[in-house]
Amino acid sequence: MELDTYHTISWLATPHGPLAHKPGATAVADPLYRLLARTIRVRGAVLDLNPGIGVASLAASSQGASVSAWEERRPMLRALQASAARHRGLRVAARLPWRVSEGTFDDVILVIGAERGNDWVRLQIASAAFALRPGGALWLAGSKKQGFERYFSWAQEALGGAEIVARDKGLRVARLRKNGDAAEPLVRLRSFEAVVRGRKYRFTALPGVFSAGELDPGSAALVEALPQKVSGLEVLDLGGGYGALSLPLAAAGARTTLLESSLAAVESSRLNFDRAGLAAEILHSDVDEALPAQRLYDIVVSNPPFHVGGRVVLDVAEAFVAAAHAHLRPGGRFYLVANQFLKYEVWMRKLFSDVRLRVVAGYKVIQASK
Ligand code: SAH
Repeated sequence: MELDTYHTISWLATPHGPLAHKPGATAVADPLYRLLARTIRVRGAVLDLNPGIGVASLAASSQGASVSAWEERRPMLRALQASAARHRGLRVAARLPWRVSEGTFDDVILVIGAERGNDWVRLQIASAAFALRPGGALWLAGSKKQGFERYFSWAQEALGGAEIVARDKGLRVARLRKNGDAAEPLVRLRSFEAVVRGRKYRFTALPGVFSAGELDPGSAALVEALPQKVSGLEVLDLGGGYGALSLPLAAAGARTTLLESSLAAVESSRLNFDRAGLAAEILHSDVDEALPAQRLYDIVVSNPPFHVGGRVVLDVAEAFVAAAHAHLRPGGRFYLVANQFLKYEVWMRKLFSDVRLRVVAGYKVIQASK
C-alpha cells in the first residue's frame, strides 16, 4: 500500500451521519458497534471508553448527549478527530481509559477490548464504574466468542443491577446500573528482566501493550540479528511498543526514534527510557504520520503488527514497509521480523534492493537495503 493511500481519510455513511475512517482503523466498524449504537438510550454526559471510529459515540450524540470519546490508538483517533469536526456534541481525546474522575458521567458506553488482554478489560470496566455517577448506567457490548459472559460477571461485581438489553447471534449488550461506590481503577504495571545483546534490561509495560510481561520471541530474534556496531547511528523503530528493540540499541549508543500508535505503549516506552537514564524521541504516531517527511535514518527496525482488533490486517504492516523506505537514507538498511507465513518480502522486493531472508529461532528476519 502506498503511504498516501494509507493516510487518506474516507467517509462512511451511518444512520446518524458521516463517519471518517481510514486504513488501520476500519476493522473497528464492526457489527458489535452497530448493535451498541442501535441499543443505547442515553442523555447528559456520556463517556465512550472504546470508541474506535465512533459508530456508537455518534449514535449517543444524535440522542442529544454530550459525548466524550476517549481513544488511545492513533488511526482511530485521526478518524474520530475528522468526524468530530463535523459533529457538534462529539468531543474526542487521546486518553487512557483509567484517567477518569469519580462520578462524572451519566452513562458510559463500552465495547469490550478483549484482544488487548484481561488486564485491559478489567481496567476498562473498573474505569467505567468509577466514572459513573450513582444511578448512572454502563452499556457493555461484547461477543460470546470473546468471553462476554466472564466480562459481564466482572462488570456485575463492579456495579450491580444488570440486564441483557440486546442480543444478535453471539453478540450481547448489557445495561448495568451503578448502585454503590466503585473503587478507583488500579493500574498494575507488568515488569520483567531480559538479557538482550548480552546485557540485562528491565522492561515495564502498562496493560494492553503488546507482549507486556515478556520479551516477544520474534523481537528477541530480530534484535540479536542486528549489527553489533550501532553507536552514533540514527535508528527508526516502527511500532516501538514498550521499547524492546530500541532500548538495547540506545544503550549501545544509537540515536533512536520510536513511532507507536498506542498511547499505553508510548507511555510504557517513555518509562523504560527514563528508568534506564537513556534518551529517545518517542512519538504517538499512526505509522509515520507524526514524523516530518524529510527525516531520514541509517537503520529502520520493525516487528510489525498483523492484527487490528483481533483480526489479521496487513494494511499497517504494508504501510510500515513503505514508511521504512521513505525514511531510510540511501545506503541504509531495513530489518524486519515476521512469522514465517507472512510474505512481507514480496512487498519489500518492490521497493528495496538486496532483500535477504534468514530464519532465526523459527522467525523470519528480513534485511533490505536502499
Ligand atoms: N517493537 C515492539 C512492539 C512490536 S508489536 C516489540 O518488539 O516489542 C507492533 C507494534 O506496532 C505494537 O506496539 C502496536 O501498538 C504498534 N502499531 C500498530 N499499529 C500501528 C500504527 N498504525 N502505527 C504505529 N504503530 C502501530
